[in-house]
Amino acid sequence: MCIFCEIIKGNIPCYKVYEDDVCLAFLDISQATIGHTLIVPKNHYQNVFELDENTASHLGKVAIKIAANLKEKLNLEALNILNNNGEKAGQTVNHFHIHLIPRYNNDDLTIIFNSNELKKEDFNNLLDKIKM
Ligand code: AMP
Ligand code: ZN
Repeated sequence: MCIFCEIIKGNIPCYKVYEDDVCLAFLDISQATIGHTLIVPKNHYQNVFELDENTASHLGKVAIKIAANLKEKLNLEALNILNNNGEKAGQTVNHFHIHLIPRYNNDDLTIIFNSNELKKEDFNNLLDKIKM
């Protein structure tokens, strides 16, 4: 059984922030910043490619509620919501989860987006492939 399933079953302790029938939110054991919280569905889905829309929708709603709560209680002005899918994307626990990471003026967390310089033609070729 995966470590988050063990937490959900109560076999491994966690610092519980929120719980309902569908999901559980608890403090990340390695606090990237103070208040770093994970939201996990109670059913085991490996990643976003397995997650169903109803569960995703519920997790999204809960993420907004928890973000608002962190904002109020920790007096935040900034917060990252992140989700890693697959090893290459940085996923280390293969049970879908959403990170809520409070941001502070003096935190030393760095999240970098590289920039690929695409020409107009490249954008259009890409759109031909992926537009829905
Ligand atoms: P990711 O790299 O997106 O898969 O994130 C997995 C996260 O789970 C990491 O930030 C870990 O610190 C966190 N984590 C792993 N084990 C535990 C645990 N037992 N309790 C709380 N958080 C955990
Ligand atoms: Zn699991």
